[in-house]
Amino acid sequence: MTLERTFSIIKPDATRRNLTGQINARLESAGLRIVAQKRKYLSEKEAKAFYAVHQERPFFDDLVAFMTSGPVVLQVLEGTNAVLVNREVMGATNPADAAKGTIRQEFAESIEANSVHGSDSPENAAIEISYFFAGCEITE
Ligand code: GDP
Repeated sequence: MTLERTFSIIKPDATRRNLTGQINARLESAGLRIVAQKRKYLSEKEAKAFYAVHQERPFFDDLVAFMTSGPVVLQVLEGTNAVLVNREVMGATNPADAAKGTIRQEFAESIEANSVHGSDSPENAAIEISYFFAGCEITE
C-alpha cells in the first residue's frame, strides 16, 4: 500500500457537456482525493509537449486540435496506489473496450474524445504534475 499522486485531465468533450462534477464524484468514490485542480485552455504548445510521445502517430494533429478545442480541468489526485486506481476508474482508451461502470464506458464519445487522461506510471505522474503545477498549488 503506497500513498501516491497521479495526474488527471478532464478533457474538452467532458467540460463541454458539464460533466466535471460527475467525473469528480467517481474519482472521489474510488478513494482518490483531488489535492489540486485548475480549469484552463491548453495552448497548442502545451498540448504538443504533453503528448510528445505520440508525435509520430497519425492521430497526433487531431489529438492536439481536440485537446485545445475547449477548456480542460487539470488535477492532481492522491490516494493508495493512485496511478493504478485512477486507470481502473477511467477504463480502457477506446470506450468500446472499457469495462462497465468506468468513466470512459459511461461518458466517452470516441477513442479520441474519451473524457479523461490519467498518468500510466508513478514516474510519468511526477513529470506530468510538475509540468502543470507548482508544489505550492498542491494541498493534502
Ligand atoms: P491513454 O493513456 O488511455 O489516454 O491512451 P494513450 O496514451 O495511448 O493515448 C493518448 C490519447 O490519444 C488517448 O487518450 C486518446 O485521446 C488519443 N488516442 C489514442 N489512440 C487514438 C487513436 O487511435 N485515434 C485517435 N484519434 N486518438 C487516439
